[in-house]
Amino acid sequence: MTQPETPPTWYADTVAMPSARPALAGDLDTDVCVIGGGLTGVSASLNLAERGYKVAVIEQQRIGWGASGRNGGQICTAYSSGMGKIESALGRDDAQRVWDMAEEAKRIIIERTQRHGISCDLSWGYLYAALSRYQMDGLRAERTDWLERYSYDQPVRLLETAEMRATVASTRYLGGLLDPGAGHLQVYAYLLGLARAAEEAGAVLYEGTRALSVTMGDHPSVTTESGTIRCQHLVIAANAYLGKLVPRLRPYVMPVGSFVCVTEPMDPARLEGLVKGGLAVGECNHILNYFRATSDNRLMFGGGANYSAIDPPSLRFYLRRKLVQVFPQLADIEVAQAWSGLIGITTSRIPDFGRLDGNVYYAQGFSGQGVALSGLAGRLIAEAVAGQAERLDIFGRIRHMPFPGGPLRTPALVLAMFYFRLLDMIGR
Ligand SMILES: Cc1cc2nc3c(=O)[nH]c(=O)nc-3n(C[C@H](O)[C@H](O)[C@H](O)COP(=O)(O)OP(=O)(O)OC[C@H]3O[C@@H](n4cnc5c(N)ncnc54)[C@H](O)[C@@H]3O)c2cc1C
Repeated sequence: MTQPETPPTWYADTVAMPSARPALAGDLDTDVCVIGGGLTGVSASLNLAERGYKVAVIEQQRIGWGASGRNGGQICTAYSSGMGKIESALGRDDAQRVWDMAEEAKRIIIERTQRHGISCDLSWGYLYAALSRYQMDGLRAERTDWLERYSYDQPVRLLETAEMRATVASTRYLGGLLDPGAGHLQVYAYLLGLARAAEEAGAVLYEGTRALSVTMGDHPSVTTESGTIRCQHLVIAANAYLGKLVPRLRPYVMPVGSFVCVTEPMDPARLEGLVKGGLAVGECNHILNYFRATSDNRLMFGGGANYSAIDPPSLRFYLRRKLVQVFPQLADIEVAQAWSGLIGITTSRIPDFGRLDGNVYYAQGFSGQGVALSGLAGRLIAEAVAGQAERLDIFGRIRHMPFPGGPLRTPALVLAMFYFRLLDMIGR
């Protein structure tokens, strides 16, 4: 049997990697089976095991092989859709609850790192970067919305051009919004810490174990190459890597390729000269660049999007070109490592959490903001399994539009991508 893979990233190269967990061997009866060993599945398993449930997680490769071990590690405020769409879908009161839950998602990271002693370079301070007056007006409106409409308790403030350029050494940006309540972390170290905590709480994690088919009903079952798992409750946490496993969920999440790299290490003063104060930076563009310093003095830089699931021929070259567009002064710096991963997006960019048939729970489509929200999803799913589904069901009430299916799927997405590029070009 082939060895399960770790994600091919700087993250995996800079953590103490535990030895591979065994694959499932034989049939199993359990209270809850979780498909997917990323942040969502592992968070759900930790919450469930703490509540006393017998939990089995199956991951087709190694824990964190999907988006959770490949992302930019940025912890964002609220939702990538913006709060307006959520308020239109749910009304004012539930939109406030959904806002509060996004804040809870950030607190979960703090609580978990402290309670389980997870060392993961957690750092606060996030800068949303505007490339046009239109985007700057958007940030101004968002700040007002967060503070006055949703009572955000952080002193978010606007940076006009001079202060922005003193903070991020790039002439690309006209201004920004500084959010002390968002930040970044070494996401794989965090995930491996959560996985260890889940195991200590009694969950069993199987690696190299792929779900081949799922049967729903009063007692769902999951078949794998090496055995069948029968359970009372099933959690689908496969997100953009779901494939055709659960046809009812597939139309609502679109896998979009996204790319990240790290530079070679730099002199710390040079790095601080690029982005002050260890901030994470994310552009307001639809197809955005984002970046931050790492603990070993590299710049981590992400950008681009791709609906075809085919990476550009040379990812390092592709990302280096984007990096130098933002920071021409880095023309002498090499990209040391580059990788890609799949982001699960929904049509509205609001995450898709809910239940199928009462005892099958899912969370997907974080739309590029799953680092924090996956912890919330894990908690809400555990509450629902325990019979307290009120909070999960708030999300479940949001009506998500399916992406076009069949032969129209790829052309429609290519068109959407073209449209977003156009909006970015004109600064909208
Ligand atoms: C390049 C990139 C950059 C990103 N940057 C950020 C960021 O900076 N901030 C942010 O908040 N979010 C970011 N995201 C999004 C974030 O990573 C995700 O929202 C989050 O990791 C989702 O976690 P998950 O557990 O739901 O999914 P995943 O981590 O993708 O986990 C799903 C797992 O399910 C497994 N699986 C699938 N099918 C099966 C099967 N049949 N049997 C068994 N296992 C299966 C997969 O192997 C995978 O490991 C980024 C994503 C990418 C790809």
